[in-house]
Amino acid sequence: MRKRHWKNRKNRKCPSCSKILTYTRKDTFDRAVGNNSVCKSCAHQDRKFTLETIEKMKQPKSTQHKKKISKSITTWWVEKKQEDLRYGINTK
Ligand SMILES: [Zn+2]
Repeated sequence: MRKRHWKNRKNRKCPSCSKILTYTRKDTFDRAVGNNSVCKSCAHQDRKFTLETIEKMKQPKSTQHKKKISKSITTWWVEKKQEDLRYGINTK
């Protein structure tokens, strides 16, 4: 059986940042080409961005976030009233 020539390494460009990616295994290389996969750093950035986007989208709808807002408004009013009392202003 003749050994298929595989130059130990195979390079391809990351489709996102054009960085040269080196593959030591042919099956990994073939799969990366098939998936059109990006380099590790791009994959990481992508995931980070997605998570941040999800968090941003979640926040306004989150009840916890709404509670935080109403609590901070209440705190503001309490502080304002206390301040008014300190300066002898009738808030009624
Ligand atoms: Zn990349």
